[in-house]
Amino acid sequence: MSVKVAVRVRPFNTREKDLGAQLCIKMDGQTTIITDPKTGNPRDFSFDYSFWSHDGFTEREDGYLLRADDRYADQQIVYHELGEQVLNNAWEGYNCCLFAYGQTGSGKSYSMVGYGANKGIIPVSSEEIFIRINQNPNPNLMFEVMVSMLEIYNEKVQDLLIPVNQRPQGGLKIRESKVTGVFVENLSKHPVSSYAEIEKLMEKGNTNRSIGSTQMNATSSRAHTIFTIEFKQILINNDTKTGKVSVINLVDLAGSEKAGQTGATGERLKEGCAINKSLVVLGSVIEALAEKSSGKDNKKGIVIPYRDSALTRILQNALGGNSKTVMVCALSPATVNYEETLSTLRYADRAKKIKNHAVVNESPEE
Ligand code: ADP
Ligand code: MG
Repeated sequence: MSVKVAVRVRPFNTREKDLGAQLCIKMDGQTTIITDPKTGNPRDFSFDYSFWSHDGFTEREDGYLLRADDRYADQQIVYHELGEQVLNNAWEGYNCCLFAYGQTGSGKSYSMVGYGANKGIIPVSSEEIFIRINQNPNPNLMFEVMVSMLEIYNEKVQDLLIPVNQRPQGGLKIRESKVTGVFVENLSKHPVSSYAEIEKLMEKGNTNRSIGSTQMNATSSRAHTIFTIEFKQILINNDTKTGKVSVINLVDLAGSEKAGQTGATGERLKEGCAINKSLVVLGSVIEALAEKSSGKDNKKGIVIPYRDSALTRILQNALGGNSKTVMVCALSPATVNYEETLSTLRYADRAKKIKNHAVVNESPEE
């Protein structure tokens, strides 16, 4: 079971339009073609999913960007292709992880969380979980849903669902246990019984986020955000109870651009470095896992550097273990971002070589 990789290209933004931006991305089926604006040389990549969201839409009255052209992938289509699978896997008892990668302003949050009527994968999936639960016809089957939300900012892990003034100074500690694997100690978990409750928690989490603005995108977060849904099914059969658990990690990564490009200096530069540390380690982890999956170097045994960053420790299970994982790579369409977009495509290309071993988490209840 390989990590599945999706790419999605967004429309030009106002700034790009004002600058008379040129398009450097094309998609043809599963192939994404990027053209070097200097040399005119094209490069091909192929991924499991390719979402063309650059043009071919109309704006509905409520602001929803609706497909007007066969090729245009709107939020519903992206949810249908990626989010629905996550839910199906969760129902079967697999751990799942979906993470969004790409430079600031490329569309990560748009795909994961969304804006206004254009709801992204996290809210739509959360809504769908309760639709499915409410449709369950089996009176002996019970469900438990718990959510948590954290952010990694300068390598510090903070709980987004507790008041900011209650945060521990050095952040939360990441621990490992033989039974549960890697976990964030003292992270609050909130039982929820409706989508409205999840929505409220997400809003709360968003207001607790650390926002560091950069010149590139004033509102974009410079932190990694992880939204986790723990989904438990309990089947009661006469006197016995059996359970299935799935942990769904939905990750909106910080921008992947190099600190230098955003014009960051001083504190902001330091911030950029720490963020990039997590992303650089994620890159190394992906590279090592891809190599391991290819069967090369099976004598030495490749060491996967999960422990080198907070992000990779927390995502350890999702990346190299028991999880069905999807990576969504957000692409800018404009030639000015050619270098960054090419590096995102290369990153994505490595990620698709990773093979995981997901198993159903079934256990008798005590
Ligand atoms: P990131 O989270 O990667 O920094 P955002 O998701 O915030 O980037 O996207 C930057 C801007 O581009 C936002 O204004 C967003 O609405 C817009 N955008 C991104 N992806 C799309 C898309 N697929 N369709 C329409 N607009 C998009
Ligand atoms: Mg964002």
